[in-house]
Formats: sequence, structure tokens, C-alpha cells
Amino acid sequence: MIDEIYFSVGSYHSHWRQRDQMRLVAQREARYYSTVVPMSNWQPVPVYNGAMVAQHWGQIGEAIGDIQPQPRILMTVQITPRTIPQDIISAHEQGARIAKVFARYTPRMEYGIADFSDPQFHKNLATAEDLGMSVAIHCELPCLDTRGYDMFSSERDFIPILADLVGAHPGLPVSVEHISNPEMLDFVRETAQDCPGMIIGGLTLHHATMTSGDFWDKKNREKSGLTNSYFYCRPVLQTNSNRVAVLEAMVSGEECFDFGPDSAYHSAEAKEGENPPAGIYFPPEIAIPTLVEVFEHSGDGWQERMEKFACRNGEKFYGLTPTDRRVRVVREDWQVPPEMDGTRPARAERTLHWRLAAA
Ligand SMILES: [Zn+2]
Repeated sequence: MIDEIYFSVGSYHSHWRQRDQMRLVAQREARYYSTVVPMSNWQPVPVYNGAMVAQHWGQIGEAIGDIQPQPRILMTVQITPRTIPQDIISAHEQGARIAKVFARYTPRMEYGIADFSDPQFHKNLATAEDLGMSVAIHCELPCLDTRGYDMFSSERDFIPILADLVGAHPGLPVSVEHISNPEMLDFVRETAQDCPGMIIGGLTLHHATMTSGDFWDKKNREKSGLTNSYFYCRPVLQTNSNRVAVLEAMVSGEECFDFGPDSAYHSAEAKEGENPPAGIYFPPEIAIPTLVEVFEHSGDGWQERMEKFACRNGEKFYGLTPTDRRVRVVREDWQVPPEMDGTRPARAERTLHWRLAAA
């Protein structure tokens, strides 16, 4: 039995937040992940142009400046309904490499894209394409009115929009974030077969290990409410057969999938408030041992497949040289605390069988 493993792991979808929260979240992640893609969804205004990318760099420098070695950071800039090509150009000048697109999946999302046929939106994508950037898309059917909106099928319902977008911009590499259903997994597989290196599907541990049953299970610290809002995320947790499909894609060794944990910190106050925000907090101390648990039982060659998924596939997609930075994980039972950083993390109070050694 193997009791200790070393491997490289990146987070190709992170939320490092801002200021005090960034210090908390980014310091944890920077110690372990060799590559990080910090998302642009700042509050109240997203990172949408060069000046804001520069501001984002500044805060990251303050938050993780003294950590060695430093992770490689792929900066993002958000394409909003008001973005013009000059915003993308100035962001690229400040180091942005990925344009981020949120589908407007709730009417409240002022900065989400509702009209994917808007010529201005396509001009922005063409600009990113010309600059050699890639695009990362949160795929869910946009909605301006929640009546009749099905959040369980909203990602699958987005596939025709995504197919049009991929067809219209054949030179723009696309990262499909946090896939939660088998149809989207197949869309990525088929597109990757036709256009190798032009598409990658990000997978999260929560979509691979949890179902909507967890969301409806009230076992948490909430004082009221029918559901466990700590497990509210988008796309929402799905059926068990969807979960199995995501898990199988994760451990498959296929080159078209990478690790986009999408750990999204929200305080307990926010999560237990009136309008709980979407996102599950999955810090590296919990995520990386969970990843090992998922792969450990997936058959021969699991360590090699795990490193491909956790790190190499993403490096290849983004044109990065393979890192030699590794984490050390040891076989040891420990219990995830009920609370971390003032909130309830994923897998709280569960016993994990692997532990991340101190960096
Ligand atoms: Zn996210």
C-alpha cells in the first residue's frame, strides 16, 4: 500500500476575492497550487479592463508576495454586456490571458451575458482571439425571468449556444467551466476530437462527489431554511447519474478535462443570510486529499492519470511548461473541522484518509 505521494496540482478555476478575503483564500491556495486562474468576479464591479487587471495584480502581490515558490497566475478579464474591444486590449496589455464570460443565469446578474448573438459580444471575442487569449465560460442558459427556468438542465440547454460560439470563433480556445452533466462532457469530448487543444472541460470535486440530495440535507448550522445553503452552487448539484458521469470523466485520463475546483469562499453570515450566494468553499487542504481519495480507487495507473487531470492537461491547454513543483500527500485519517476561516467548508466533519503535508 502506498502511504505517501507527490504530484503537481493546479487550480484552473479559483476565486481569490478581494482584500482581506483574498489574503485568507489566496495564501492557502498559493502554497499548494502550481498554477492558478483567479476569477474576475469582483464586487461590486468585475475586473473588466486594464486598470482593474493592474489593481488585481496589486492585491495579489500584497496577499501572497512573501510565499515561495510563487504559483503561476493566469489573469482573467470579464466580458460584460458593456465591454468594448479596447477593454480587452488594455487588459491584455496588463497581463490578462483569459477572457471570462458569465451567462446571465439569474435576472439579478447585471454583468452576465444574456444575448449571445449580440454583435458587440462577438467583436470582443474576436479581439481576444486576435490577441491569442482563451475564453472561460460559465455555461448556463441565460434568463431574464425565472418563471419556467430549469436550473437542473440550464447547463445542458446552453450547449447549442456554445456550439454556435465555438463555430464562430475557431481560433479561440474555450474552457467550459465546472461541467455537471453527461451531455456537456460529450460535447467537450467531440469538439476536442475535431479541434484538438481548442477546448477543455473544467471539473469540480463537488460535482464529482455530491448530489442534489446533499443540498436538500439540512445537516448544517443553519438556523432556518429547508436546504443546506453551504451546498448551493451553480450549476447546482445534480442527480447521482450526472455525478457519476463527472467522476468518470475526471479519472478517465482524457486530455480534454482539467481541474477547476471553483472553491468559492463566502462567510457563514452570507451563507446563512436571506439570500445565500452560490459557491462551495473547498480549500486545498480539503480538496487535494479528496482528489486523491477519488483517484485512489480508479484502477491501475491512477497516480499518472491524477497528475494529468490535476495539472498537465491544463498546462498543455494554456501552453505552459510542465512544472516540477509538487505537493506531498500522506495516508493519515483526520477530521475536517466544522468551521474554517469563519465558514463551513466542503466535507466538514467528515473523516478524510489522506492529509496534505505542510508546504
Ligand atoms: Zn467560479
